Amino acid sequence: MDTRSIVVYKFGGTSVATPERIINVAKRLMAAKARGEKVVVVVSAMGDSTNKLIELANQVSNQPDSREYDALVSTGENISAALLAMALIDRNCPALSLNGAQAGIRTTDIYSRAKIMDIDCSRIQSELDAGKVVVVTGFQGVTPHDDITTIGRGGSDTSAVALAAALKAKTCHICTDVDGVYTTDPRMVPNARKLPIISYDEMLELASLGAKVLHPRSVEFGKQHQIELVVRSSFSDDPGTLVKEISEMEEGLRPVTGVTVDLNQARIAILKVPDRPGVAGTLFGHLSKNAVNVDMIIQSIEHDEINSITFTVHKNDLEIGKKVSEEFAKEVGAQGVVFEDNIAKLSIVGVGMISKPGVAATMFKALGEHNINLKHIATSEIKISCVIDQTKAAEAVRVLHDAFELEKETV
Ligand code: ASP
Ligand code: MG
Repeated sequence: MDTRSIVVYKFGGTSVATPERIINVAKRLMAAKARGEKVVVVVSAMGDSTNKLIELANQVSNQPDSREYDALVSTGENISAALLAMALIDRNCPALSLNGAQAGIRTTDIYSRAKIMDIDCSRIQSELDAGKVVVVTGFQGVTPHDDITTIGRGGSDTSAVALAAALKAKTCHICTDVDGVYTTDPRMVPNARKLPIISYDEMLELASLGAKVLHPRSVEFGKQHQIELVVRSSFSDDPGTLVKEISEMEEGLRPVTGVTVDLNQARIAILKVPDRPGVAGTLFGHLSKNAVNVDMIIQSIEHDEINSITFTVHKNDLEIGKKVSEEFAKEVGAQGVVFEDNIAKLSIVGVGMISKPGVAATMFKALGEHNINLKHIATSEIKISCVIDQTKAAEAVRVLHDAFELEKETV
């Protein structure tokens, strides 16, 4: 039996943006193969080519047909995969490219945001056994009816981790244009620190909260299947950041691991909603039927038997969210719907906050001292988020990074 281990690599758009960079990736993969690894590599589309495809779609149609939209935007990955395989073969490294369908990636049939259901790895496996580097297109799959789907912007990370899970690989290297996961965005806070290690749960929160380094679903897959993710630079041998299961004890003393801000949220409020059992269920049922992803939810009492319900959504979902909410308001006899999109969701994340009191107090006090007003607060076990005015976002991140001394090495 062939006991060499399968390692999955993913290279993002910046890493394959030019022919020279594709050759650089090919060389790195050849080195991995020479170390004895069985190499599967997932690629994104070159540079910003996915955006260009989307622009094209919008030039021929105001509302591009969803099936054809996916058929189009998935093609960027076909190009980079074929080019990378060519570059490998040219250097006498046996390789082949496989698109989503050829790689056996089956998804649900919700275009643009399909979910990977299962992967039939037999083709990949046999090509690996034949000694080839297998290059797989990220971001795409096929429905049970063989229609091409895409799995959401930035989805190649998820393709890679899902493949690692299906192939029972221990590690998935996410090679990208940053050299790891930082305590916050280093462009906002120059003394942000690179984390050597972070837990899945923390990474999941950071990824969902707007830290763009990993696609959230990829972290979920990693956690579910216990695949170690290594976030690292495509251009250096720097070890990067390891994402794995770590206990609170191993976490050491740090109460907060990272600060993040999401500028792509909008909030919708439904005013004077009659307080009856089932109204919230009706509203969020309608929203979910329309595939609107709701984030923070706040129901507050206005006065007797009248509530307001406020929630946040991604800006892309604002129009549909508003429409659904307006219909709901009519249906239940609420007063009306208001919305706001110049907000920012600011969050601190850390497994350590479970056992350390006073974290919320430190956060709110620091923001208060800088005159930053909190519009909403929401918490989970390892996260505290608040909605603030968007104009204060950058300042707020710096304030919290300082307040929790995240620039300092802890463990
Ligand atoms: N090319 C796709 C995008 O730009 C998928 C990816 O890069 O992960 O969203
Ligand atoms: Mg991309």
